[in-house]
Amino acid sequence: MTAPSIRREPNARAEPRSVTIFGATGSIGASTLDLLRRSPGDYRVEALTAHRNVAELAKLAREFGARFAAVADPACFAELKEALAGSGIEAGAGPSALAEAGGRPAQWVMAAMSGAAGLKPALVAAERGATIALANKECLVCAGDVFMRAARRAGATILPVDSEHNALFQALAAGRREEVLRVVLTASGGPFLHWEADAIARASPEQALRHPNWSMGQKITIDSATMMNKGLEIIEAHHLFDLPECKIDVLVHPQSIVHGLVEFMDRSMIAQMGTPDMRTPIAHCLAWPERIPGAARGLDLAAIGELTFFAPDPERFPALRLARRALAAGGAAATVFNAANEVAVAEFLGRRIDFGGIARLVEATMDALDRSHGAVVAATADDALAVDHIARKTALSLLPEIAAKAS
Ligand code: NAD
Ligand code: MG
Repeated sequence: MTAPSIRREPNARAEPRSVTIFGATGSIGASTLDLLRRSPGDYRVEALTAHRNVAELAKLAREFGARFAAVADPACFAELKEALAGSGIEAGAGPSALAEAGGRPAQWVMAAMSGAAGLKPALVAAERGATIALANKECLVCAGDVFMRAARRAGATILPVDSEHNALFQALAAGRREEVLRVVLTASGGPFLHWEADAIARASPEQALRHPNWSMGQKITIDSATMMNKGLEIIEAHHLFDLPECKIDVLVHPQSIVHGLVEFMDRSMIAQMGTPDMRTPIAHCLAWPERIPGAARGLDLAAIGELTFFAPDPERFPALRLARRALAAGGAAATVFNAANEVAVAEFLGRRIDFGGIARLVEATMDALDRSHGAVVAATADDALAVDHIARKTALSLLPEIAAKAS
């Protein structure tokens, strides 16, 4: 018997694939658009969205011939309409416009807004059964059960963009689910990996924004410095791959070359590697189940020479303990954890709390709400967002106490 010959022709589609990008003006948005720019004719842009950056959004919408462009801030509507005058591109603003962007008939949707604000628009796209490339981990941490249930019900495909989860997605293909012993997310360790605890506690926003390996938006860069990002990613992995918390490990790997590993029952460990460039996981999601040639630079392992791994330090980086506590508690504890962290990052960037105050504020908010709102089981996105709202208010009310106890 001869094996059938399989010919894979990347992007050999009769029609261009229709694409919508939430967060088009951000770091993930820019990498996604860079990939589209390199394959003119393969993609057609349905909608692009941004928070307030009207000039950039209008420029991109014109360049890619988008049919619809929307800003989250309703106060920016007139400016966007004017910037798009004569282009034939429809303009929208506010929550209903973001929902419209999610509902428009794009086959592939990049969810790359930052924060829990990305939940509702991504949910609209999931509910109509779209293929969603999910970068926005906060929406899974805020309402993972609601989001994944809606996606399953509608037959939506959720593809992980986050480099570690994309790595796990690729490595998991090497075996069956019941054969998986555990998965490992790698962490660069951020800029403070080798700093003493008291120096970390007093670090400035400028120091925290200097990530050694990745160029990313501000929120995720601060989350990488606290390691809250890895905490969010443990919860993200739980929802994406339906894994219990005890099967999700973290290893610090300062070179950011191995992005994730899966250990199977025979003790084989399958790893995915690549340069620290988000275009690789984005391209994987864009072409899946095909592959795009040359999305990023190739790896020169001989030049890199050494790959190192070690366990995270729970004393200097309490974020992982807080994330595991939230996941183990179940209910809306992760919603509280995420909302408190979003507030804490904004307050740190505004210089109203110090770096050490971020974890302290998150923990104090969890302590205050664990019994009441942490225990809520959210049946809908609105339930989760109601807890998110209370957690933000609680975190803000705890601010003076946290600020007074500067590290
Ligand atoms: P960014 O700050 O560079 O961009 C965020 C985008 O979302 C911008 O277009 C902004 O206009 C938009 N936005 C922000 N707040 C909004 C709001 N309230 N309403 C509507 N739009 C809003 O962020 P990023 O680094 O591109 O990250 C985006 C998401 O992807 C985050 O959830 C992040 O955790 C995740 N992610 C990013 C990376 C990375 O390398 N940058 C890697 C993995 C995951
Ligand atoms: Mg990541």
